[in-house]
Amino acid sequence: MPEGDTIHAAARRVGAALVGSDIVSIETPHQRHAMDRWPERLGGRGVRSVDAHGKHLFLRFDGDLTLHSHLRMGGMWGVYERGRRWSRSPRRAWLVIRTPEHEVVEFDGPVLELMTESRTRFDLRLAALGPDILAPQLDEKRFLTRLREDDPTRGIGDALLDQRNIAGIGNVWKSEGCFDAAIDPWRKVRDTSDAEALAIVRATRPRMQDSVSRGGHIRGLQVYERAGRPCPRCKHRIRARGQGEDNRTTYWCPECQR
Ligand SMILES: [Zn+2]
Repeated sequence: MPEGDTIHAAARRVGAALVGSDIVSIETPHQRHAMDRWPERLGGRGVRSVDAHGKHLFLRFDGDLTLHSHLRMGGMWGVYERGRRWSRSPRRAWLVIRTPEHEVVEFDGPVLELMTESRTRFDLRLAALGPDILAPQLDEKRFLTRLREDDPTRGIGDALLDQRNIAGIGNVWKSEGCFDAAIDPWRKVRDTSDAEALAIVRATRPRMQDSVSRGGHIRGLQVYERAGRPCPRCKHRIRARGQGEDNRTTYWCPECQR
């Protein structure tokens, strides 16, 4: 599942291809958008900027129109030179934007909507998002406020996945962050101090920033998908178990994460 670093890296690539370029065509091949008339509504407009908040990506067009996308479990953004073969089948394309040099394609994207700029600010789902872990300045105070409003009996690993607490952390970074901070992901939120919660996001942020700078490629995973292997810190065996209502797998070392 794409996490915040993947989406921020995609925003950079998509922005580099679209901002300042002529938009030759916009297509929405998927049946669901057949009646939306986006090609007409967006025709002739340039792309002003492309940005991300957590796992959400925004293409901001001239004249107050914004395309909002969320890739959920399996979507992706592809940026290709014109004429190059796409990495997924054209049948899976939901959005195709062409410039003289590039084709920008969103594949398998279940959330794709055109909204006015002002609606992006007042949309309830977007307003509910916690601070973006990859924002230029991480709003730590707001993260802690949101965390303390959450169910205190929830495991801290599970709480980190909740985009209302902090936006951008997914299953990979939940496990890696708790490992880096040596905190047991099963520890309840109420038993996790502010300093400990901050230690997790402060450890996670630079690793996610590193991933963004490498186009979304993560270096040096410590525990994620390494169940049964020795812990890089203490050599005990790494474990894996489903956590939270969605039963998302958490990887951790029960010896050195307390
Ligand atoms: Zn360990």
